[in-house]
Amino acid sequence: MPELPEAETIVQQLRRKVVGKAIASVVVRDRKIADARLPGIKSAKISGVSRKGKAIILELEKERFVLIRLGMTGHFHYYLKGAASPAEEQKYEVVAFSFHDGSLLSYNDIRRFGRVQLFLSKETVRKALAKLGIDVLSSAFTLAVFRKLLEKRNKTTIKMALMDQALLSGIGNIYAQEALYRARIDPRRKISTLSAAEVKKLYAAIIGVLRLAVKKHGTTVENYVHIEGSGGFQHYLQVYQREKCPKGHPLKKEYIGGRGTSYCTTCQR
Ligand SMILES: [Zn+2]
Repeated sequence: MPELPEAETIVQQLRRKVVGKAIASVVVRDRKIADARLPGIKSAKISGVSRKGKAIILELEKERFVLIRLGMTGHFHYYLKGAASPAEEQKYEVVAFSFHDGSLLSYNDIRRFGRVQLFLSKETVRKALAKLGIDVLSSAFTLAVFRKLLEKRNKTTIKMALMDQALLSGIGNIYAQEALYRARIDPRRKISTLSAAEVKKLYAAIIGVLRLAVKKHGTTVENYVHIEGSGGFQHYLQVYQREKCPKGHPLKKEYIGGRGTSYCTTCQR
C-alpha cells in the first residue's frame, strides 16, 4: 500500500510532467471510484500538485481540485504524444486526462480501493482532508509537536499510534516498522513507557527513514509503481518482510493492530 514516500515520489513526477498543461478532455471509466463531473474540467490548466499524507491533489486554475487517494493499488501512467495506454493497462484504467500537447495521464487501480474526487473550492478540499493528522514531512511536524501528539494516545502502543492517520498522516505498516527498528523501540511498547530520549530518537528515525525512502522513490514490495517504474527502498528495509535484522538476529513476527509486524527482541527494547 502506498505510504508517504510513494505519494511524494508521484507528486514530484506529476509536477515535472503535467504542471502548466491544459486538459483537452477527461474520460471517466469507473464512476464508482472517479467523480462523474470530472469531464467538466476540460480546458483547465493544471497549476500545481500537492499532497497531504498519502492524498494527492491536482490543483487546477479557477480553484478546482482533483483529490486522488491511491488506496492499495492506485497508480498513474503518463504517455507522451501519440501513445495510448496498452490494452493490459486499460482494464484497470479509472480516469484518463488528455492534454492539449497530445500527452495522456491515466489513473489506474487494480483492486479499486482508491478514489478520485473533484472539489470546487479550496475550503471544500481542506475540509475533505481535515481528518488527516499532520503530514510527517511538513515543516510543522517538529519534535515538540510529535511529543504532544503522542501524549494524546498515551495508552496505545507506539506502532498503532504511528500508523494512526488521524494523528500522523503518511506512515503505514512498512515505515512504522522501519522507524521503530532504527530507534531500537519495541513496537508493542505503550506510549506512556517511552522516555523523552526514546521519543527524540524515534522522531529522528521517522524523518530519516521517510527522507531516504523519498530519495529512493518509495518501496516496491508488492504492486506499488511510480510513474517511471519501481521504487528502490526495498533494498534498504531492515525488518519489514525480512527474516533477520541487520545484526543477524532472527526477527519475531506478530500481528499488531491487525497488521503483520516484524521486530527484533534483541535490538528493540
Ligand atoms: Zn537485532
